[in-house]
Amino acid sequence: MKKKSRFLVFVLCALMFAFVVERTDFSSPVRSADTSKGWKLMVVNSEYRVPKNYELEFVTLSCGEKVEKRIYPDLQEMFDDALSEGIDLVVRSGYRSEEEQKQLLIKKIGELRNEGFSDNKARTEALRWVSMPGTSEHQLGFAIDINAENGTKEERAYKWLSDNAHKYGFILRYPSDKTDITGIAYEPWHFRYVGKSHAKEIYNQGLCLEEYVETL
Ligand SMILES: [Zn+2]
Repeated sequence: MKKKSRFLVFVLCALMFAFVVERTDFSSPVRSADTSKGWKLMVVNSEYRVPKNYELEFVTLSCGEKVEKRIYPDLQEMFDDALSEGIDLVVRSGYRSEEEQKQLLIKKIGELRNEGFSDNKARTEALRWVSMPGTSEHQLGFAIDINAENGTKEERAYKWLSDNAHKYGFILRYPSDKTDITGIAYEPWHFRYVGKSHAKEIYNQGLCLEEYVETL
């Protein structure tokens, strides 16, 4: 092939890849989440997606992130109490739309490809960290990623949260010893609201949400 046509083929391939990734239907063919146990116990994971047109109402936090209205009072109380103990917390990531989730996944796949992963491996690896659009709890607004702020050490913040979050209705959603069930790597910053009574049970019994819901 001539140099010029080789270059053209290369450009065409690159364009096609960009087009395919952008147009890829990342919405997984999974079942709609079971809403029969109420919103607090709705399990959204790689097998159960956020029901289409599920009605949610949001509150915008001072940091600019949004959370579902119903989790806000307990979230605020938790942050206030942490601060009174010298631990400054901030919501780094709250509600995410399906489209935002898709962009996040595309970005992660791109980063991994740049690191030398093949297309397939990049996709598999990315999904260990970024949920398939439709299957992220962030799309419910009941889950938050929490960061330490203003000099608070991250380890101290995560320790406080893992010891106390359940008192405010939040659970560490992806514990290190449940990755085979949740399918998600350990995330000390990701908390899901389930309400105080369920959170206390889940904490005391040492279960993850999937296991707890099965016991009911
Ligand atoms: Zn998260």
